[in-house]
Formats: sequence, structure tokens, C-alpha cells
Amino acid sequence: MSIQTSDSSSNDYGKALSLIAAHSHISGLGLDENLQPKATSQGMVGQSQARRAAGVILKMVQNGAIAGRAVLIAGPPSTGKTALAMGLSQSLGQDVPFTAIAGSEIFSLELSKTEALTQAFRKSIGVKIKEETEMIEGEVVEIQIDKSITGGHKQGKLTIKTTDMETIYELGSKMIEGLTKEKVLAGDVISIDKASGKITKLGRSFARSRDYDAMGADTRFVQCPEGELQKRKSVVHTVSLHEIDVINSRTQGFLALFTGDTGEIRSEVRDQINTKVAEWKEEGKADIVPGVLFIDEVHMLDIECFSFINRALEDEFAPIVVMATNRGISRTRGTNYKSPHGLPLDLLDRSIIITTHNYNEQEIKTILSIRAQEEEVEVAPDALDLMTKIGSESSLRYASNLISVSQQIALKRKSNTVEVADIKRAYLLFLDSSRSVKFLQEYQPQYID
Ligand code: ATP
Repeated sequence: MSIQTSDSSSNDYGKALSLIAAHSHISGLGLDENLQPKATSQGMVGQSQARRAAGVILKMVQNGAIAGRAVLIAGPPSTGKTALAMGLSQSLGQDVPFTAIAGSEIFSLELSKTEALTQAFRKSIGVKIKEETEMIEGEVVEIQIDKSITGGHKQGKLTIKTTDMETIYELGSKMIEGLTKEKVLAGDVISIDKASGKITKLGRSFARSRDYDAMGADTRFVQCPEGELQKRKSVVHTVSLHEIDVINSRTQGFLALFTGDTGEIRSEVRDQINTKVAEWKEEGKADIVPGVLFIDEVHMLDIECFSFINRALEDEFAPIVVMATNRGISRTRGTNYKSPHGLPLDLLDRSIIITTHNYNEQEIKTILSIRAQEEEVEVAPDALDLMTKIGSESSLRYASNLISVSQQIALKRKSNTVEVADIKRAYLLFLDSSRSVKFLQEYQPQYID
């Protein structure tokens, strides 16, 4: 079977948009070159211990050192577990796949749990394919001026650079742009007028010295050497194993890459692809780039999924699996037993655990102010103080949600600045979880059980 690959899809490897929106202010882990966290950097605030730990993971992923390992980020709600994973993803670089899913996403009618997980795993494995392609005529080539035909003019190096039809000739350090759209072939002789930079193609037979003389002293002749232009160029592109699966799955076809409607992919297809990719690796044609699979709310998975993950981590091509949970000792779904974070002990045992902690007021204030900036909402200083207070008494996420709501309220009274009164109104209009619980307790009899 011939395996097709494609680099048509973007490099975002299906990052879940909904997960990203709340974290759009985060552009990295905010670490210095020694992987030490800066107080506030790249949108990241505080949580230094966890960020330092994530920095170590980052280094290990970059060195390909921890494929097939599991990391669990555990901590109370709104303590930046997802933010940390997003920071990690931003720092990984273009070629390292990062896939984000929420635990509950894998339960659907279209795909079985294990198929959904398999796809997520394979989206997180990059295959860096090195391809030798025929050099496209005129693409970045370096050509030495042939002394025998330069007619005694100053010697130098001629570099010809072209992109598509636009031809750019660089003579020495002088750039002469877009002077000709003609393609230059190996063996062609071109003349370059030093004053105007005008380039004329003279064809291959133009090689007699009296012809040069006729062109005048200010013209330089160059013969493009045979062979140089036929130089092979190697192109590297990275695709995920999942993309290779989809393209080669006869029932789906590559359009499924765009619609996401991949359906189940037959295991024989995957087996063949694994064999082929292993062969490419052996022959030096491809490198495997283990990426990161992030599973948020991992406690939503059940025991079958956990067993699957345990097994998949031992696979030949395994990413690093980063999981996040805000659960303490809780029941593992699909079983009757309780365990730390709702994870079965064998999976827990093979995981390295990073913990996050609640923020202090100053940190909450900084995060809220970064969020307000990100959402382009102007907040008066005392309104930010109030929001901070709400954030520490209720939750950071609730306070963060108040930003856009109170902006709407401010806009209604034709103000661009959110004031204390707007926050108060928003606070009364929208309940946080603890007030919602109280409300329910009070009005429970009116609801349907
Ligand atoms: P949950 O357990 O409820 O899923 P979580 O720990 O994953 O919560 P996040 O969703 O990461 O919490 O954080 C809530 C909001 O606060 C997000 O908008 C996030 O980007 C922001 N946030 C959290 N921690 C930080 C931080 N250290 N620096 C900057 N922003 C942060």
C-alpha cells in the first residue's frame, strides 16, 4: 500500500477552541531561560511551583524524553490547571503536536470511547517527513560567477532567488528586485547592467567574447552553471498520525480532515500505517515527534478509558498525556471504589503529579486585570478591587465572567468604563455557584425533582 501524507491541515492539531478562548491571554509558561518562572509573564501569574514543574515537562517533551508518560495536574477549581496546559502548548513550538480534549467529549453516539481516544492519541503524534523534491527552477540557488565569461569585471557571488514568477536577483550585497520575470535555466547566460541592474537573458549560445564587448563595459555576464539548478532540495513537513490515518482510510477520504467527520477508522489501516511509518523511520525518511495529549476533567473518563490509556501509553508511538482534575478522593466512574482524584491507582502510579493552589488577592487582581485588557474592557480601579474581592470570596472564574457582563451593563448607560455600580448589578443578575445552591435550597419545592 502506498501511504499518503498531507500537510494541508494547519499545525493546530485540533486544539479545542472552547478551551482556548478563556486562556487567550496566555502565550507561554512565562519562564526565563533557566526555566524559572517570572512573577507575571506571557499572561501567566503566580503558581510558580506548578509552572516550574511544567517547565521541566516542556524540556523533556522537547528532548523527546518522556513519550509514553502521564502527568496529572491536580488542584482546586480555577487554579490555572488548564491555563498551565495552554501555556505548555504555546511553548512547544510549531512542530510538536498538542491536542486538547475534555474528558466528557469522548462520550458520543458517533464514535466509541476507545475510537475517540485512539484518534486523540494519534493526533498527538507528529511524523516529520523528509522529502527530497526536485528543485523548482530558480528557487534559492547560489551561483558563482564564471570567471571565464565575466569579461574582467569585478568578481563576486551571484545569488538568484525567486518565488513563483517574481524573480529577485541579488548581486553581491546589492538587491535588484523584480527586474525580470523570465526564468533562468542552467546553462543560460544572463547579462546584468551594473548601473540599472537590468537583467537580460541572452540564451545559451551567447558565449563569444566579442559579443560581450559589444554590450559595453558596464555589463556583467554570468553563465548559470549546469547542474547547480538541478540541485535537490529537501522539504520537511510534519503531519500527525491521525491525519495519515484519515487520508488513507478508504471510507473517509481527506475531506474528513476538514469536517472532522472521520468516523471509525479500521484497525488494519492503522496497522499498515504504523508499519509504514516505522519503515520510514528506519530508512531515515521520517522522525517521530511525540506530542502532548491534554485531557481536561479527566475524572469524567471511566474505568474502560483509563485501562485504554494505560495500555496506549505503552504503545510504540505514544504521546505524553497531561491530565487535569479538580477532584479529591472520589469514585472512579464505572466502578464502586474511590481513589485519589478518581483515577485508578495503576494509572496514578505511573503519573507524575503537579499540584496547583488557590491564588492570593494580589494574584487574582492581576489575572482579572489581564483578562479585562484581553477582552478590551476598561475597568475603574475601585471596580477592579470589587471584582477581586468577589473573585477571592466566590471564584476566579465567576469574577472573570463578570468582566464582559458588567461591560454590557456599562454600555447600556453609555459608558465605556466599568464602574462599581455595574459590577454590583452584574453580581445581582448572575448567581455564582454558592448563591445558586442557596437559592435552590430555598426554592427546591418549586422545582421538578
Ligand atoms: P477547573 O478545575 O474548574 O477546570 P482550572 O484549574 O483548569 O479550573 P483555569 O480554567 O485554568 O482553571 O483558570 C480559570 C481562568 O483563570 C482562566 O481564564 C485562566 O486562563 C485564568 N488563570 C488561571 N490561572 C492563571 C494564571 N496563573 N495566570 C493567568 N491566568 C490564569
